[in-house]
Amino acid sequence: MHVLLTVEEALEQILARATPVRTERVGVDESLGRVLHEPVISRIDLPPFASSAMDGFAVRAVDTPGELPVAFRVAAGRPATAPLPEGWAAGVATGGVVPAGADAVVPVEHVVDRGDRVLVEERASAGQHIRPSGGDVREGETVLGAGARVGAAHIGAVSAVGVGEVACAARPRVAVLATGSELQAPGRPLSPGQIYESNRAMIAAALAPTGAEVELLPAVADDPSAHRAALERGLTADVLVSSGGVSMGPHDLVRSSARELGVEEVFWGVAVKPGKPLSFGLRGATLVFGLPGNPVSSLVGALVFVRPALLALQGAALCGPEYLPGRAGRALRRNPHRDEFVRARRVVEEDRVVLEALTGQDSHMIVRAAEANALLHVPRGDGEIDAGAAVRYLTLE
Ligand code: AMP
Ligand code: MG
Repeated sequence: MHVLLTVEEALEQILARATPVRTERVGVDESLGRVLHEPVISRIDLPPFASSAMDGFAVRAVDTPGELPVAFRVAAGRPATAPLPEGWAAGVATGGVVPAGADAVVPVEHVVDRGDRVLVEERASAGQHIRPSGGDVREGETVLGAGARVGAAHIGAVSAVGVGEVACAARPRVAVLATGSELQAPGRPLSPGQIYESNRAMIAAALAPTGAEVELLPAVADDPSAHRAALERGLTADVLVSSGGVSMGPHDLVRSSARELGVEEVFWGVAVKPGKPLSFGLRGATLVFGLPGNPVSSLVGALVFVRPALLALQGAALCGPEYLPGRAGRALRRNPHRDEFVRARRVVEEDRVVLEALTGQDSHMIVRAAEANALLHVPRGDGEIDAGAAVRYLTLE
């Protein structure tokens, strides 16, 4: 009997063969979603100077309360003209430099501003409304580590410490092809026996968030020479993903064609539903995934296996898949032999996330699957998962 790998074993096999792609430098503004190959180190203390958190007056706390003469007003983006003399106040705007000698800022709404004098009616406490220099980060400290994936807040942080370019993984090139003589392009009329080709664009969409550069190759008929030509073209990419043609039927030509082209198969078959006949191999450094053609199988394969591989290729510290915790909405029968990914709707109920399994779980039912926003993971085993039990899921959003 053909032995199926578990999901974990299959992932381990895949990730072990993902050799990181080259490094390139990109502008911070173009780094969203990219994986850093070098840490980002702060070039400055941030804030670079003690600055005011409010529009108001810089004072010495011991001089308050009282009516203080205004020595000067600090303009935005300018240094303070002088230290603050004892017994005086200085006007300062939010983010402006707090002059040396001052140890508190009194907000403008708590004073009476008389132009050349200011009345501070209440006692200020030392340090109030002052952002100390280096309070966010110090020069030389690590802002982001190698392996981090750049998000929006990261872009803000990297820019704020004065770094304009980051060293990150080059975008892995992924070629996606579809196989099947029955496939017709969406938008064209269907002839009897045909169905619309829906996997290439879907797989591309599932992989795009990893930062990969996805190229769609034309769909090919179930013919060995057409398969070889398409696969050969796809093998120039870092990752080749095909859909269909990896089962046991007479028209399933992907594995044999790949073998003829020098692809070494690492495994075929994973104990997962949907998506069991997934194949994975290697030619040189190119990772070769054969996803089963049923659309939901292709989707699950792309999310659970190909996406982590693309992150590993970029040297990501966390490759996923990222499971999130939730609760089963109703009892679910477990499959004794295979892990299942059940299409579900995630509902937030007060303090908990409940996953309601949808009807229509067949692997060809992509339109039913499109109602789901979660893939609920049901580990293989005996018996049932009780309603309300802790489960984990992958988000589809
Ligand atoms: P296969 O894995 O080639 O045996 O295909 C399994 C099922 O998925 C068959 O019903 C195919 O018609 C269907 N299928 C294969 N490729 C695609 C595709 N690109 N788009 C939509 N359905 C497909
Ligand atoms: Mg087929």
